[in-house]
Amino acid sequence: MSTQENPEKVVIFGTGPAGLTAAIYAARADLEPLVYDGMQPGGQLTITTDVENFPGFADGIMGPELMDILRAQAARFGTRFSMNALDSIDLTSRPFHYVCGDEEGWADSVIVATGASARYLGLENEIRLQGYGVSACATCDGFFYRDRVVAVVGGGDSAAEEASFLTKFASKVYLLVRRDELRASKIMAQRVLANEKVEVLWNTSVVDVLGDDTVTGIRVKDSKANEERDITLEGLFLAIGHTPNSSAFADWLDTDGSGYIETAADSTATNIGGVFACGDVQDTQYRQAVTAAGSGCMAALEAERWLEEQAHSA
Ligand code: NDP
Repeated sequence: MSTQENPEKVVIFGTGPAGLTAAIYAARADLEPLVYDGMQPGGQLTITTDVENFPGFADGIMGPELMDILRAQAARFGTRFSMNALDSIDLTSRPFHYVCGDEEGWADSVIVATGASARYLGLENEIRLQGYGVSACATCDGFFYRDRVVAVVGGGDSAAEEASFLTKFASKVYLLVRRDELRASKIMAQRVLANEKVEVLWNTSVVDVLGDDTVTGIRVKDSKANEERDITLEGLFLAIGHTPNSSAFADWLDTDGSGYIETAADSTATNIGGVFACGDVQDTQYRQAVTAAGSGCMAALEAERWLEEQAHSA
């Protein structure tokens, strides 16, 4: 257990691809990282099925299995894990003090890899069928819907982009917009509206997801006509935004208007020395497992360098 006098060298919050890759690098640099699982051990990949775009797995790999492998790889080099999630942290002065459930500790450097959570509508059947026709990542899962009918919920840039992307595979893409206009930027809106495979249903919300083991359809409501109807389809993609899991750090770290932690250009450094952010909690652009892993590597290398600099300047 760390103390103020004898802090951890590196504490990592989050065990998605970013946190675990940071752990692999930090452990191999003899920094003996301590990693806190967080609310969703393994991160968002634990709620997907096949991952076919993570390099190194020619036949694809199940998301939970990939995370087990990354965890074992981090453990192999001496990473220690705690199942607790971060409750609070004080970044006023070093070593940083934090509380995770019934544990508290001190850390010379911190890597924030707490990820982002895709927003869902909150329907019971939508949650039950996650990974079985319900997805929040068209780039990850679109490939499985070749010649199938799918729907995308949302009216922002993500929804426009995902609907356009899905037309590469799907035979038809419904875009379900809850208002009578898109929030998406003009260019992306124009692109999706011009796509012959896309049918936009305005003023339309999903009220239920149909299917026992996999999605077979959705029940939608037209709020103008005040009518409900069922649509037969096999994939439902949510693109109603993500929430970065940054609230524990909000008092200390600079964030953008949406809560994403801001990092220096080409770096994972935050506005506080010794605190690095990687993966989806700071990524508004790519949000891929492989980019998260890449930024986790950067965070560990930067933490290592930063600790060396502190040791030399002490
Ligand atoms: P946004 O917050 O921009 O849009 C979310 C959309 O989902 C809105 O249209 C909103 O509707 C809709 N929505 C929210 N909740 C519900 C709900 N419960 N039911 C139905 N619809 C709902 O999120 P995005 O992920 O689209 O974009 C996030 C940021 O990332 C933006 O700044 C965007 O510009 C950027 N981005 C840029 C891209 C690019 O440039 N290539 C690609 C993707 C994202 P309403 O409009 O009614 O509020």
